[in-house]
Amino acid sequence: MNQAQERPPLGDMPLEDFRRFGYQIVDWIAEYFDRIEKFPVLSQVEPDWLRHELPSSPPEKGEAFSDVLEDVERLILPAVTHWNHPNFHGLFSTSTSSVGIFGEILAAAFDMKAMLWRTAPASAELEDVVLDWLRQMMGLPEDFEGIIYDTASVSTMHAIAAARERAKFQIREKGMSGRTDLPLLRVYCSEHVHSSIDKACITLGLGQRSLRKIECNERYEMIPERVAQAIEEDIEAGCIPICVIPTIGTTSTSSIDPVDAVADLCEKYGIWLHVDTAYAGSTAIVPEMRHYFNGWERADSIVVNPHKWLFTPFDLSVLYCRDIGELKQAFSLVPEYLKTSDAGEIKNGMDYGIQLGRRFRALKLWFVIRYFGCEGLIDRLRDHCRLAQLFASWVEGSEAFELMAPVPFALVCFRACPVGVEDLDALNERMMNEINACGEAYLSHTKLNGKFTLRLSVGSIRVEERHLRKVWDLLNGKLR
Ligand code: PLP
Repeated sequence: MNQAQERPPLGDMPLEDFRRFGYQIVDWIAEYFDRIEKFPVLSQVEPDWLRHELPSSPPEKGEAFSDVLEDVERLILPAVTHWNHPNFHGLFSTSTSSVGIFGEILAAAFDMKAMLWRTAPASAELEDVVLDWLRQMMGLPEDFEGIIYDTASVSTMHAIAAARERAKFQIREKGMSGRTDLPLLRVYCSEHVHSSIDKACITLGLGQRSLRKIECNERYEMIPERVAQAIEEDIEAGCIPICVIPTIGTTSTSSIDPVDAVADLCEKYGIWLHVDTAYAGSTAIVPEMRHYFNGWERADSIVVNPHKWLFTPFDLSVLYCRDIGELKQAFSLVPEYLKTSDAGEIKNGMDYGIQLGRRFRALKLWFVIRYFGCEGLIDRLRDHCRLAQLFASWVEGSEAFELMAPVPFALVCFRACPVGVEDLDALNERMMNEINACGEAYLSHTKLNGKFTLRLSVGSIRVEERHLRKVWDLLNGKLR
């Protein structure tokens, strides 16, 4: 037999196999969701376990796909931390839904690169429509237009780049290095800001030195008078304030910076106002929670992450801009090979960021909004907040625990404080580690005023009261 005959035919997997394995995979996912509570929330494998289980070099010949799928169960599954487990309460819980997964499957099948309108009209137009729906759902004014990126870190980096461009130092053309005519540009945020803001400043060449972290009050909210003072001091010293970033729903405690008061300052000094509401933003669709967002309609840009808490699989972050033209001004660059003859008001996604090709992410959000409807989404978010309040009420009602921060959304910050224990930090850290190690639930922590604080986030689409009761029982069991 010659070599050519030995090799399987060219082209893709035969369609009949695709169908067979496709049905098998959907069945597998359905069963996975059905048995998800049987898995330890946090993967119990040790570092390098999977690496050692896998061959160190790729297969010379193609393998039966059934064998590959078997290895998913045998090798991949033990190394999965189950973000979709209803007792995943660490960091911020993920809220992925099945219809969102369908969106991912179809987007991969189309595999369109939404750079130009022409290369992906469905993505370009669906993105506009679905982001306008979301804008309406969140009660933002009509002039806000959105663009989808992968993560909030990237959305915020683009917002700060647009703010930097507005400062009129021709940084786009001349850059920042080696310039003697460039004063220190300043970005302001609270001391509780997410590290993505620091990273954006690093990436954009502003440097960490440019970031002024403003003191918070006892509720972990940025103090606007301190922002005003910092701006005044900086102007006096010859620095240029370019952007203020209040957060609605900070990462550690979900506290809410006073956006309206900060907006007054931004207006007064002509500074870009970027609101980071990556976690909590989706709750603006819940009428009784809208008041937390007072003032955000005055922002220049806002980041909201449907992949955190709007039932959409990772990744999908939205940056809304009041004048999206400013973002375009910062990033649009059209080489000859991307020029098209399409006339009129077409929107080419590549003009609004550093990426050329962009994934068809709007599809999954469209599926989610259509399947649940505004009502279904509101009901689910409301229920998560109700469950968080319930857990907070157990904490408040217990002598052995205390709440460490207000609970405006669905994150509870608390700690154990039984009488007679001196080292509460050590106790809480031990309790958290033991609960996480047993696989029954996953909690994470932060430090508030130097105190080790447990964080419980409620956000899984599968979470029910019994799951919180389980965590509460585990915690109480660990006191002894
Ligand atoms: N901003 C806030 C307030 C966050 O809580 C987070 C992540 O938890 C981020 C930004 C970063 O999100 P992403 O992972 O989408 O970059």
